[in-house]
Amino acid sequence: MKSVAAILFLTALLSSVEIRLATDATRGRHGASPAAPSGLSLVVRAVSVQAQAKADPWGFDEEAAESWQDILRPQVVDVVLTTAFLAFAMVSFFRKSVPLKYVTFVMAVGYMGFYKSNLISVVNIFGVIDWNLPIVKHNVTWYVFALFTVISTVLWGRVYCGRVCAYGALTQLMDATLPKKLRIEPPVWLERRAAWIKYGLLASVILYYLATHNLMVYRFVEPFWMFGLSESWGLWIGLAVLLIATVFVRNLYCRFLCPVGAMLGILSNLTVFKIKRWSECKTCKLCEKTCEWGAIQGPKIIKSECVRCDDCERLYMDQKKCPHWIIILRKADKIASASPARSV
Ligand code: SF4
Ligand code: SF4
Repeated sequence: MKSVAAILFLTALLSSVEIRLATDATRGRHGASPAAPSGLSLVVRAVSVQAQAKADPWGFDEEAAESWQDILRPQVVDVVLTTAFLAFAMVSFFRKSVPLKYVTFVMAVGYMGFYKSNLISVVNIFGVIDWNLPIVKHNVTWYVFALFTVISTVLWGRVYCGRVCAYGALTQLMDATLPKKLRIEPPVWLERRAAWIKYGLLASVILYYLATHNLMVYRFVEPFWMFGLSESWGLWIGLAVLLIATVFVRNLYCRFLCPVGAMLGILSNLTVFKIKRWSECKTCKLCEKTCEWGAIQGPKIIKSECVRCDDCERLYMDQKKCPHWIIILRKADKIASASPARSV
């Protein structure tokens, strides 16, 4: 009787381990677990759990053996590098420096995109909907990254899109390096309507997920994963079409199609530190023409479209170009030139 009970207990224990490992494997791609375990590591871990179960059926030893140091040590380098990258991105943002911005883009593409393949994805939105979030202690970098994205969006708007996202950085680098004569500027009416497509896509993807609970839908709406999916030629072709289209219409995916950008756009309506506008902005069109994201409409900045690229902010600060300063400086000149005459 005792041996039957032991066999039943072991079977239950192993199935719970299997479920846990399967969940880990599903989450792995988006940083929801330390790493997606390979088939071999699953077997090794299952065997070691089996051996442990014999020696310690209640798993007390396993809990005691796993110290915080053991858990955090393998993550330290990753946490430090990611935090350093994010800090660098913020320095470039606060200094409004164009060279630093482009260095950030190169780091975003190289480190976050190709090396880590870690980007905010609709899968993270699904995780929030299900409240199925990664375990903090095993995913410190993921939390640093996700919290940075949410907090920076609430404080300043879509800084993530304007600096950190590898795909956005890649298309901005393309925009800066490709000849301008290739560009097609969509008419303003079309640009404004097309910007709504991404919200439609976001709603469709969420509804699809709620109906099917199929995570894999992300592959069809997020081009940054397509290069990792060599088994599907259709997705490679999709990525190629998007990149070629981006040659002609700048930041096409980010402006019109990205569901993550749409979600961050909704969140950025809460922006605490907004971009300054002068009273002269009501009539001046300089910034509106400068903004490559279609985020300025007359005196208003459309927060959900703005990615805090700095282009308009650098113009506001330019005392030779911005009418606000030109008017102030002219008035000051007039006063200065009138003062000596009065004193004579
Ligand atoms: S809009 Fe999407 S792809 Fe573009 S920068 Fe933002 S998150 Fe990245
Ligand atoms: S130019 Fe100004 S309004 Fe337009 S995206 Fe850049 S920061 Fe935002």
